Amino acid sequence: MIRLAARKGRLRRRRQVTASGIDWDAATREATDLLCRYITVNTANPPGNELLGARFLAQVLRENGIDSETHPVDAQRANMSARLPGDGSKRPLVLLNHIDVVPAEREFWQEDPFAGAVKDGVIWGRGALDMKSMAVMELMTLLLLRRQGLPLRRDIVFLACADEEQGGVAGIDWLDAHHPELFDAEYVINEGGYGSTEMFGVRRPVFSCSVGEKGPLWLRLVAHGMPGHGSVPHPDNCLERLVRALYKVQTWRRPITLLPEVATMLERLKSAGIFGEEVSEQGLTGVAESNPLLRAFLTDTVSTTMCNAGVKSNVIPAVAEATLDCRLLPGHDPAAFIEQVKQVIDDPRVEVQQVMESHTPISPVGTELFDVIDAVSRETAPDAIVIPSIATGFTDSRVFRRRGVTAYGFVPCLLEPAEVATVHGNDERIPVEKLGLGLRMLYEVVRRMCVE
Ligand SMILES: [Zn+2]
Repeated sequence: MIRLAARKGRLRRRRQVTASGIDWDAATREATDLLCRYITVNTANPPGNELLGARFLAQVLRENGIDSETHPVDAQRANMSARLPGDGSKRPLVLLNHIDVVPAEREFWQEDPFAGAVKDGVIWGRGALDMKSMAVMELMTLLLLRRQGLPLRRDIVFLACADEEQGGVAGIDWLDAHHPELFDAEYVINEGGYGSTEMFGVRRPVFSCSVGEKGPLWLRLVAHGMPGHGSVPHPDNCLERLVRALYKVQTWRRPITLLPEVATMLERLKSAGIFGEEVSEQGLTGVAESNPLLRAFLTDTVSTTMCNAGVKSNVIPAVAEATLDCRLLPGHDPAAFIEQVKQVIDDPRVEVQQVMESHTPISPVGTELFDVIDAVSRETAPDAIVIPSIATGFTDSRVFRRRGVTAYGFVPCLLEPAEVATVHGNDERIPVEKLGLGLRMLYEVVRRMCVE
């Protein structure tokens, strides 16, 4: 049955090829070549060097008759944008991506992470998924629409940002302050949701379209105490104080909150036979305890990520610090959460400092773009389901959402769990076939939003 569905899908796609007049095999080869070359532009952040990436993208656009603008931040870092003009009857659609990638530890990779190798139909390299492949799909969509000369009802803006992997200070936040005109849009398509070949252990294609994201709240706990000789323990040991505080935070049970968007997600998974639990706060409480991903969708989470104290084995330190990476559900108030952390620790000698905080509203689900994404996904893979989701990490979409623009995380690639696991890890890679299918889907979504 699965094989039959896949064949039907292929036939359906072939008809679309004829209708659009695009040679998708050639387009996939072109996208593969662009992605391999883009991977060789080393934009590992830090330091980023996004100017090199911006120049690469600008050069490709120029060769295809599309002007672009580079927005330099300093001598090494830049953002860039390009615009295919529409007739203005609808407000712009932004295709958003980031130029930088996280660093790679070469010794743990099977292939050089910055060589852009293709082996047995798979493209290897840092950024192959996060997110140079999506950037190339967006770029190719622009090129294909331009070559076809189709009249556009709205501007399509290609926006490539610096510094996403380090918080966006030199990227989306810099653009927010210096180029507000780029945020004048109705819709954004960005990273944030992938397609998966399986979910919760059930094999069935699921396309996630993220409509919101958890808000990061990074806290530093600082404990001071009396230093001394390790051979004579005393009760004012700051490190032991900090450990007690961390234990209280780790064992703190926070209630679950079922956001309407998450309820829709779980209901759709349930009707598809992927999720079997009752979709209610009560019904989900027990399940969330044992499933980290589900728990991340349903609660504010805390991970202890850094700890620092001590100078020598036999010295009781004077100060001890730890960092908590808290992620709050959209709508939850960071200040109120900090108050709760203080109450849980219940020790005035452990200071709670805010290191970083960002929160952003959720984009609505019932929009033209969501419906188009839903339709194109199900036409491409007839047994696929499309779910709204909340991204557990944060993306550049947050700035658009804050400005009231509907932003979705939708990377139209159906990935195996083993492939998703390479994001920010070793051996990051994407099969050529998945890049090609993703391009076809993204092109079709954009065409329906901007041409029809
Ligand atoms: Zn990314």
